[in-house]
Amino acid sequence: MYITHQADFSKLEFVEKIGNAAEILLVLSIVPTYLRYCGLWRRSGALMMETTLFVWDFDWTVINCNSDEYIPASFIGSDEMERRLRAMIKQHGPAKWHDCVADLINDCMTESKATKQDVLNAAASMPYLSDVRGALEDIANDSKCGLCIISDGNDEFIKAFLKRNNMIDFFSRGIETNFGIWDNNKDDDNDNTTMSKELFSVVHQSTKYGGHSCAKCPPNLCKTQVLLDILSKETQRPRVVYIGDGSNDVCPAINVLEKGDVLLARKGNKISNPNALSGEQQEPSEFSGQEFPIMATIERRQREDGLIPRCRISTWNLGKELRDLVQSILNLSDV
Ligand SMILES: [Zn+2]
Repeated sequence: MYITHQADFSKLEFVEKIGNAAEILLVLSIVPTYLRYCGLWRRSGALMMETTLFVWDFDWTVINCNSDEYIPASFIGSDEMERRLRAMIKQHGPAKWHDCVADLINDCMTESKATKQDVLNAAASMPYLSDVRGALEDIANDSKCGLCIISDGNDEFIKAFLKRNNMIDFFSRGIETNFGIWDNNKDDDNDNTTMSKELFSVVHQSTKYGGHSCAKCPPNLCKTQVLLDILSKETQRPRVVYIGDGSNDVCPAINVLEKGDVLLARKGNKISNPNALSGEQQEPSEFSGQEFPIMATIERRQREDGLIPRCRISTWNLGKELRDLVQSILNLSDV
């Protein structure tokens, strides 16, 4: 009786173990499918938990012009825009750049009887390179990658451009920039016949943090402060690929980017007539504008402070050069 009972127990235990094993096999067969669905399973079969964050500057990177200059120039012409903006910066100082741009845009609106929508239409028509858009699409289609913008432009102009060109959904990790504000303002509150006018102003991105203490960056934005904030919200630090052209991209390149990260720095000269162009552009054929300042700024920081980025640096000027670099990074991460 005892023996029979023991035999029955063993049989039950055996059946139970087989059942457990079958459950385990079932789970093991489902896991890769689920992880592939989530984008966490590499083609090689290795588990892919880490991600790559592509951080984009905006002016002369996503677009092929400077948004703060392009929009007033679309109302008063490039030469007049430059003349007035230069005079305003000389009077108020470079730290007041965004106030000067806002004042110039308000002047343009008054003189041209332009509306807020006219200004946003100008922003939406800023020129961009076809292959830069292609690079953005390549990254956005890779489920292991996220994209964000850190820009010293403003959210009103950036979003008007991205929405018009169906690029806003690319930036899954958000847009960090200054805040463009529109205020309704009547010239004379007692005169009901006066048309209400929308006044544009810019609030610094750094107000989000109560300012910043970086001696190397202008008061509106320190990209190191922003990028560290973005990375602090990640459970595991992603690899960072940073795409930029300006002096203010050097601060995060030196202070945040690490070995294993990549800086895709724009090198060479700008086109000379960006404000005469609009919408999608093929590769330019002339480069007689000013030099992109990022590489010269990196060299100066090395000379003056002995600081160099720890990350790998690759350079590009044409849209195709950037797209090739992006594709090689994406392909490597798939191996
Ligand atoms: Zn800084």
